[in-house]
Formats: sequence, structure tokens, C-alpha cells
Amino acid sequence: ADFGFKKVKYEEKQAKVNEVFNNVAEKYDLMNDAMSFGLHRLWKNQFIQDIEPTPGMRLIDVAGGTGDITFRYLNYLKNLNPGHFDNSRDIVATVCDINENMLNVGKDRSINLGFQDKINWKVGNAENLILEKENTYDVYTIAFGIRNCTNLENVLKEAYRVLKPGGRFMCLEFSRTENPVFKRVYDFYSFQMIPVMGYLIAGDWNSYQYLVESIRMFPSQDEFASLISDCGFRLVSYKNLTNGAVAIHSGFKF
Ligand code: SAM
Repeated sequence: ADFGFKKVKYEEKQAKVNEVFNNVAEKYDLMNDAMSFGLHRLWKNQFIQDIEPTPGMRLIDVAGGTGDITFRYLNYLKNLNPGHFDNSRDIVATVCDINENMLNVGKDRSINLGFQDKINWKVGNAENLILEKENTYDVYTIAFGIRNCTNLENVLKEAYRVLKPGGRFMCLEFSRTENPVFKRVYDFYSFQMIPVMGYLIAGDWNSYQYLVESIRMFPSQDEFASLISDCGFRLVSYKNLTNGAVAIHSGFKF
């Protein structure tokens, strides 16, 4: 189905996206667990493992929302070398999101987690990272965020620009499942159930309907990989999780 997102003007789509995340900010983390049956935790942990965080790496987590990816990244580093992590005064990660409400929820969580000194929180648009200099970061992550952006090419070009040579682009996003049986279950669940759950748990049908529609509009694994290559990245690859319901794409700047 074409729900018209391709046809809407840039400002309209971004305004709609902003409204959705304003509505869900407070309940965002709870809803993730409810709707993915906790699977998003496994997907995100796999994503962090694939990044292979090492001390001294500089991370920018774009569309970072309430900071979930960054917190998992920091936890990984802390477990790796607790002494070094606790004693280091360095900022480890920048979380960038267009929505200040999401960032504010994240900031509060970072204090509870003891990560407040390790993170820079910045309001910014993935399509135009005006606060960021080129060749700055070792890793750029975008998790469940890029499908909300209007122009994927702009996002990828900005990712390329802010990464250092040798730096890595990593994207975690809903994708396409090829398994016909799984696809039927998945389609039923997402089209029929997710908006209902959004309504019942968060009192918000439309935001969750948007979520499902935006997943359907996003390019397939191979199409997205080509786009990443077209934007200058090398050694582009992807791997499917849960039958391709979610995919991790990766590419390097040389
Ligand atoms: N990465 C986080 C996670 O995995 O939990 C949050 C993902 S949340 C589904 C999507 C986020 O993308 C929202 O916080 C939203 O505000 C943000 N977003 C949407 N459009 C954006 C844009 N153009 N630039 C930056 N962030 C954007």
C-alpha cells in the first residue's frame, strides 16, 4: 500500500514525524518492549556487538532518541574495562536527535545510569548536521531512525562527511522478510495489532499506524545497500536479524 509518504513535502513529513515522537517520548521505551516482545533488546545488543566498541572510539548516535543505543554502547565499554571507564573524563558519545523531548527523556535516564559525563546531547537534523565538523567520528550509528528521515541520500552524505577516514557507518532498521510464512504472521501482527496496542498502551493509534507505514515504505536490504555505496561508502554489507524483519547495514569511509 502507498500511504502517500513519498508524495508529501519535506516539511510535512518531518512535521508529522516530530509530532509522532512528541506524542510517544515518555512511553517510548515501554512501547518498544511491548511491541517487539522484547526483541528490540536482542537486535540492539547484536548491533552493539557488531560495532565492537573499543576505548577511545568516538561515537555519534544519530536519531538517538532516548539514548538506548548509546547506553548499550557505554555499558559494553564499561564491562570491557570498568576501571578505565570510570576514571576517564572523556566524552565518549554524541547523541543527536531532531526531537528535544526524546533527548530530555534520555538525559534523565543518563543521570540514573551514571553516564551523564560521557554524553553530549545535541538537537540536530540527520540530513544536515550543522553542529558537526567533518572527519570527527569513528562510528556513526542510526537505529530505527533513518526511515523517519525524508531524504536518505542527505542522511548518508552527512554520515560520510562527519566520519573520519576509516570510520564506520552502522544502521539498524526494520527491513524486508522473505520467508512467506513468517511474512504473513508479521504483516498481520504489524498492520492489525500494532495500532491497537498503541491505542491501548499509549492512547495513540495514529503514531503507531505511522510506524507501521514507515516500515513498509523503506527500501529493501539490497536497495538500501546500493544507496549506501552510491554515497561513497566501501565494503558495504548487511545482515538480517529475525528473518529480515530487521537488518544491520554497515559501510566504511576510506
Ligand atoms: N535510536 C533510538 C532507539 O533505537 O531507541 C530512537 C529511535 S526512534 C524510533 C526514532 C528517532 O528518530 C526519534 O527520536 C525521532 O525524533 C528521530 N528523528 C526523526 N527524524 C529525524 C531527523 N531528520 N534527524 C534526526 N532525528 C530524527
